[in-house]
Amino acid sequence: MSRIQKLTTTLANQIAAGEVIERPASVVKELIENSLDATATKIDLEIENGGTRLIRVHDNGCGIHADDLILALDRHTTSKIKTLADLERIFTLGFRGEALASISSVARLTLTSSVVNQTGWQVKTCTTESLPELNPMAHPQGTTIEIRDLFFNTPARKKFLRTEKTEFAHIDELIKRVALSCFPIQFTLKHNQKLIRHYRAAHSDKEREQRIESLCGSAFLENALHISAETAGLKLSGWIALPTFSRSQADLQYFYVNSRIVRDKLVNHAVRQAYHDVLYGDRHPAFVLFLEISPEQVDVNVHPTKHEVRFRESRLVHDFIYRSLQDALAHIRPGNNTPAITQTMQTFTEIPVKKYDAQAKPLEQFKMPMKVHEQMAVYQQLHADVKIEVQPAPQTDIPPLGFAIGQLKNIYILAENTEGLVLVDMHAAHERVIYEQLKQQIAEKKLTAQPLLVPLTINFSEREAIALENHQGTLQQLSVHIDRLSQTTIVVREVPDLLRDSQIEPLLRDIAADLVQTEKSERIDHFIQHILGTMACHAAVRAQRKLTLPEMNALLRAMENTEHSSSCNHGRPTWTQFSLAELDKLFLRGR
Ligand code: ADP
Ligand code: MG
Repeated sequence: MSRIQKLTTTLANQIAAGEVIERPASVVKELIENSLDATATKIDLEIENGGTRLIRVHDNGCGIHADDLILALDRHTTSKIKTLADLERIFTLGFRGEALASISSVARLTLTSSVVNQTGWQVKTCTTESLPELNPMAHPQGTTIEIRDLFFNTPARKKFLRTEKTEFAHIDELIKRVALSCFPIQFTLKHNQKLIRHYRAAHSDKEREQRIESLCGSAFLENALHISAETAGLKLSGWIALPTFSRSQADLQYFYVNSRIVRDKLVNHAVRQAYHDVLYGDRHPAFVLFLEISPEQVDVNVHPTKHEVRFRESRLVHDFIYRSLQDALAHIRPGNNTPAITQTMQTFTEIPVKKYDAQAKPLEQFKMPMKVHEQMAVYQQLHADVKIEVQPAPQTDIPPLGFAIGQLKNIYILAENTEGLVLVDMHAAHERVIYEQLKQQIAEKKLTAQPLLVPLTINFSEREAIALENHQGTLQQLSVHIDRLSQTTIVVREVPDLLRDSQIEPLLRDIAADLVQTEKSERIDHFIQHILGTMACHAAVRAQRKLTLPEMNALLRAMENTEHSSSCNHGRPTWTQFSLAELDKLFLRGR
């Protein structure tokens, strides 16, 4: 080995550049962050050849003082922190003083800037060790920075670049991420002289939603809930998609901590857990979320590109995100997107009604306060009396999912509400209702067991019998009381009240099969949820079963009163609405 030498500044900078400047989009990220730190309200980007030929960023920020222009290009020069204490409370996106030095070591850089009431100045670097020169140059307040011929002197890096189109796509995605979080700032993006994006400044709620819509698509916004939650020192706001809008890729997930986009394991875990109950398999939730936290509570200096952060109170942050999202998801009920209807629900049960004898006893699980049943009965009679022109009942009487008008193929319930036709997948909906009831009863320790009149003996494979025996305690917590009688026989003595009318044997078979499959991998609470899901599925009315109108109506009312009831345990929708307008369209009927 040869003797130790000090690297030249350029080489040291080129090595440092390796960490942050991977491709044109990383240059754009650094430059835009500088413009944002300079409190610009308007940022214009021009790109040529996917950013390899030219990246020009023009902003109307505070500008750089003429005396600082050359300094700005040095490594470890920054206007954003002065002391170690400042590092503990970072309010800016940049603070490491490395970006301009790194960029100028791997490309040709021209920096022109002017502070308020001054004419501008310009520096150009040429990546030799000689000092860059400073020249006067007219410029409005703000900064323009031009990066040409990226990686011209580092051919190894250049080889890793993809096609012009791909590199531009990365830039486009980057601007999207920035635009999602910086609503009041206007962005334009040109590629090869063509205007590709123009994000107008968004100040009102409506304008913010428009920006979300243009960035994430209108389907996202239509299927998203706006949330806002706050606790001591933490605020979470943004949009989360309904479980039914889940995606096969994690490609619509944007999480910002103090306006900085992050990809954080802890955050991801909290979000996943909140959706755990409503998403099936490997579906991914979609969200745009902003966490605001006091800068002392988060360390942003753990990664050169600052994509990762570390929270001081990580458990607290995790639980806050988890709870806020879970709470929002739990409140998704039919009708809660339309406050007018939810409001009228209160008056609905108070209307004086006639007495009515339901011909069929509604399913046990659907037990509802009498008044609601009676109310439904009156509505049905109204329908029976007026055969031809059914006057729609006054809007205030109609609950969100309306009233059942019949059953289709013994699978779907058809109902009429104020908007038009409602179609309900009866098994999926009932499954969710029971699942939530079971969950709630367990949480409140109110799950009651029902001893079987005749204990049920079932034969299993030995492996299954062992698995069941091993989980006897867990099953007991769920009010399923079993004993192992022999190597291959299990006797079931008690089941939860809710399952009284269900077929116990197939249920136990499913549970045993799941136990054998997942025994080692699953955590106990996931496992309990899983069994609950299986129970709910078995307890729910099977498709192909004929329901009476009161039973159908009772299910509709139960759905309205159940958390998460718009999707089944596997994340599929349980009901859907066809508005009158949509129906009219089917028949080419103009109104
Ligand atoms: P950092 O952002 O970490 O401070 P940079 O190398 O990105 O380091 O920038 C160095 C300095 O140059 C910044 O601290 C800032 O003072 C100044 N600067 C860079 N870009 C701009 C800009 N667009 N407007 C105003 N000042 C800028
Ligand atoms: Mg910077």
